[in-house]
Amino acid sequence: MNDTCERVVIVGAGHAGGSAAALLRQYGWQGPITLIGAEPLVPYQRPPLSKGWLKGQEAPADLLLRPAAFYQTNRIDLRLSSSVATIDRATRTTTLTTGESIAYDHLILATGSHARPLPVPGHDLHGIVELRTLADADHLRTLLHPGARLAVIGAGYIGLEVAASARALGTDVVVIEREARALARVASVPLADFFQQRHAAAGVRIVLNATVEAFEGRNGHVTAVRLSDGEAILCDAVLVGVGAAPNDALARAAGLDCANGIVVDLGARTSDAAIHAIGDCTQRPLPRYQRAGRLESVPNALEQAKQAAADLCGRPPPAPEVPWFWSDQYEVRLQIAGLPFDVADIVVRGDPSAGGFAIFHLSADGTVQAVEAVNAPAEFMAGRLMISRHRQVVAARLRDVSCSIRELAG
Ligand code: FAD
Repeated sequence: MNDTCERVVIVGAGHAGGSAAALLRQYGWQGPITLIGAEPLVPYQRPPLSKGWLKGQEAPADLLLRPAAFYQTNRIDLRLSSSVATIDRATRTTTLTTGESIAYDHLILATGSHARPLPVPGHDLHGIVELRTLADADHLRTLLHPGARLAVIGAGYIGLEVAASARALGTDVVVIEREARALARVASVPLADFFQQRHAAAGVRIVLNATVEAFEGRNGHVTAVRLSDGEAILCDAVLVGVGAAPNDALARAAGLDCANGIVVDLGARTSDAAIHAIGDCTQRPLPRYQRAGRLESVPNALEQAKQAAADLCGRPPPAPEVPWFWSDQYEVRLQIAGLPFDVADIVVRGDPSAGGFAIFHLSADGTVQAVEAVNAPAEFMAGRLMISRHRQVVAARLRDVSCSIRELAG
C-alpha cells in the first residue's frame, strides 16, 4: 500500500477525475487527494445534458456523480472554479491560473475534451452555442421553445440528440451535415439510415453534403446559416456540434508524449512515471483491436479511472473491457459495443422498420468486431460477450432471428 504521506493531485473534476478520486479511497489510498476542477460544480454526468436535462426532465441532484458531501467525508480536497495553468515535472508542482502552487507526488490528468470550434465569419454572434458543460446546456435550454428555429451543425451523436430533445420542446430543427450521411465517422450506413428516417418522421430536416460558409445576424444575434451553395437556413439559434478535441495542451507543454491525446498504457501511465492520464484526453491502447485510439465515452472514463487507481494502489490491473457507448433519441435507445475495425461484412438482425434491430460487424473470418443495437438489449449483451470472446459466427445464422442470440453467443 502507498506511503500515507504521498499526495495525489487530479486535474479535471469531470467523470474520469471524480471517479478516480472515489476509487482511490475505495482501493485504500491513505494520502491526501486534491481534485482540481475548472467548473464551479462537483463532478457531474454530461450525457443528460443533450437528453433528459435539456428537456427539463431531470433534477440537479440526478446529474451529480456523487452527493457534494461525499468529497468531504472521504477527505478529498475539492478545488472548484480552479484551473491548472502549468505543470513543472522537475519539482512535481502544478500552478493554478491564480498563481497558487500545489505540489504532487502523483498527478492524474483528467482534463477531458473541448468542442471543436467552427471559425467561419459570424461565429461569435449571440445565439450560437456549443454543448459541453452544464452552463452550455442551461444556455441552450433558454433558446429552445415552441416555434423557435434551431440549426444544428453536425449530424453526430450530440447534434442528433439535441435535435430530438429540441423537437420534444416544440422547436423547429434543421440539421446541417458536411458529409453525405449522418453519423459518418461513428456509425454504419444502416444505422445512419435508420436515424435519418426517424428524425425525418419527427419533422427534422437533415441537409447533407452541406458546408457552412458563414453565420449571418442582426443586432448581434444569429439569424441564418449561409451554406456554400448559397442557401440561407433561417434560424433563431445554432448548436455547433462538429466533434471534440482532447484537452492535452497542459501535457504537451510539460513535454509528455502526446498523439491524438496524451499517450497512456493499460495502467493509464504516461511517459512520466509520476503522471497518469485518464478519460477523453488520452490516446489509449485498445488491446482487443491491437491498436491505439481515443475514446469519448463514460465507460472509457470509468475504465481508465479504475486503471489509474489500481496502479497507484498497487492492485492488479483491471481486465480490459470491450469499449461501449449509448445514445438516446426519441424512444430509441442505441447501444454500441466494440469498434468496427477490420470489418468485411455487416449483418442486420431484425427489422429496422419495426424499431428494434442490431447490426453486427464481422471480420473476414466471421469474428464479431462490433455491434450496434437499437432497442435490442439482448443483442447488445450477446454482442459484447461475442466481441470479448473473439467469437466467430456464421452470418446467415446471425441474420436468422429464429436462432437464439444467447445460443449464438455461447
Ligand atoms: P470531462 O467529463 O469533460 O471532464 C473534464 C473536466 O476537466 C472538465 O470539467 C474541465 O473543465 C476540466 N478541466 C480541463 N482542463 C482543466 C484544467 N487545466 N484545470 C482544471 N480543470 C480542467 N458518453 C457516453 O458514454 N454516452 C452518452 O450518451 C454521452 N453523451 C454525452 C452528451 C454530451 C452533451 C457530452 C458533452 C458528452 C457525452 N458523452 C457521452 C461523453 C462523456 O460525457 C465523456 O466521454 C466523459 O465526460 C469524459 O470524462 P472526462 O472526465 O474525461 O472529461
